[in-house]
Amino acid sequence: MKTPTRRRFIEITPFAGLVLLAACSPKVEPQSVQMATTPAPNPPPAAAAAPSKTAINLPMLEIGDAQAVVFGYVDDATQADKVKFTNYVSGSACSNCALFQGEAGDVAGGCPLFVGKHVAAKGWCTSWAKKA
Ligand code: SF4
Repeated sequence: MKTPTRRRFIEITPFAGLVLLAACSPKVEPQSVQMATTPAPNPPPAAAAAPSKTAINLPMLEIGDAQAVVFGYVDDATQADKVKFTNYVSGSACSNCALFQGEAGDVAGGCPLFVGKHVAAKGWCTSWAKKA
């Protein structure tokens, strides 16, 4: 009988590690595999309709937010600094801005200038552009 050598030990160690790893790995049940590959018969009602852009609950943009200050955002258009922002148009507000993502009648909605926040429908900023 041949005595084990260091070379033989080095040869079998990776295979022994694989066998040990396979033995310790969690077993995959055939039923769980089938559930993962079988599509649901009917999508849930919530997934059938696309959610409204305003249905997403986002925090309101604060007028003290650094980016809000840059754009002269106010949450009440009548409070806009008309001296500093000469492009202010009487009657303009987020609700009638082309960038406002809320629906008619929403009190707040998204704006691509302030990602992750909602702006007030009656708010305003220097990037206001008349909705077509
Ligand atoms: Fe409001 Fe339009 Fe300014 Fe966005 S870009 S904050 S919707 S006025």
